[in-house]
Amino acid sequence: MKPQIYVARRIPAEVEAYLKEHAEVRKWEQERPITKDELKEEVGDAEGLLIAGTPITEELLANAPNLKVVSNISVGYNNLNIDALRSRGVLATHTPYVLDDTVADLAFTLILSASRRVVELDHWVRDGKWQKGQEDELFGVDVHHATLGIIGLGRIGERIARRAIFGFDMKVLYNNRNRKPQVEAELGVSYASMEELLKTSDIVLLMLPLTEETRGLMGAREFDMMKRSAVFINVARGPIVDETALVEALQQRKIFAAGLDVFDREPIDPNHPLLQCTNVVTLPHIGSATAATRTKMAQRAANNLIHALQGSKEIDLIPELKQ
Ligand code: NAP
Repeated sequence: MKPQIYVARRIPAEVEAYLKEHAEVRKWEQERPITKDELKEEVGDAEGLLIAGTPITEELLANAPNLKVVSNISVGYNNLNIDALRSRGVLATHTPYVLDDTVADLAFTLILSASRRVVELDHWVRDGKWQKGQEDELFGVDVHHATLGIIGLGRIGERIARRAIFGFDMKVLYNNRNRKPQVEAELGVSYASMEELLKTSDIVLLMLPLTEETRGLMGAREFDMMKRSAVFINVARGPIVDETALVEALQQRKIFAAGLDVFDREPIDPNHPLLQCTNVVTLPHIGSATAATRTKMAQRAANNLIHALQGSKEIDLIPELKQ
């Protein structure tokens, strides 16, 4: 008998067809995303769950007695209550690798547009403010040959480092909990303490997961350490940054600019003070958002779900459940 699964997110037709070959599929039919309370009602006796970012709570798991596998269509998995999954013996998977280059491209888009004030100056032109003789008012900061400090040099961070070194002749510093001698030798990146990285980088970029350890990692103290000419980029997760401290750093020109794909609350409130700052470029969490990459992510997540239900070990189990 085929296992029962519930698909809580719209997925490409070919991925749904694959799932239907291997499982009895029920799915969320509405255009808008499912809420965690709706998922709790919908999950029923499903053995497998395909989700993208919906919180998996103790409460939901208590309402899902047959659940064996949660497959997340995302590499980040801060939406999962790992202790609750572990104590109930439910497996959880994510989608590493297939999105690395797409997210790295987006990180570079933010680096370039924040450093050269692309969005602000686009508005300048459209608003008829462009006049001759004001060139120095339009200055940005150079990206080529600058020092890029990556906090969280993992799969995606390495792809960003490659673009920086081979494409823009940049020097790359990184900070992780563990050094990566092989990557240092291969790419020429250098390990730095947080303090050294913050004080010496021209661009500081976050590419690490949101955990209890990293929540609020970038606060007033950290922004104060950065150069006044520095650019701050966050493509990781919003809550890693204290947004009040970031607004202050941008308003008081303690840093030059910021480029943000992620926020504390998403969607961000249109009245949020960050959006009043002209020296910030904002995007609606689109790191992996190309049709090709989202299809690969959905297919990888579908494979993870079916393989895990079939008892295969060839799955992208989240690291915390490997221990
Ligand atoms: P990864 O390969 O696991 O890399 C994460 C890196 O961060 C690791 O090298 C890790 O090194 C480091 N790290 C973890 N905890 C740390 C800590 N407390 N302090 C310092 N470094 C720490 O993950 P990835 O695939 O590159 O993805 C990274 C994150 O990006 C995801 O978790 C996700 O939240 C985010 N993301 C966002 C988007 C978007 O759309 N904006 C898209 C994809 C991913 P150590 O273990 O040695 O510390």
